Amino acid sequence: MLPLSSKIDLSNLHGLYIPLTLFSGEILIAFVPTKDSDAWKNGIGLMMMACCEECLEQMKNALKNDMQTFAYMDEASKR
Ligand SMILES: [Zn+2]
Repeated sequence: MLPLSSKIDLSNLHGLYIPLTLFSGEILIAFVPTKDSDAWKNGIGLMMMACCEECLEQMKNALKNDMQTFAYMDEASKR
């Protein structure tokens, strides 16, 4: 799980899985916790899924490096 970046407006995306496109072209799937969830109250804005620790670390690094590239955010928020 990653802390919420203030750069990203997640207010319309609670309870949704969203694809995040990175500069590298890779797509990560993230879940935005509902407003009632403990995760959200604790400042967790995105929950990432990974098969193992190694992949989790890679995803964290990828997101850290290009956190501003959320190409699909607008599309997802219209659902
Ligand atoms: Zn793995």
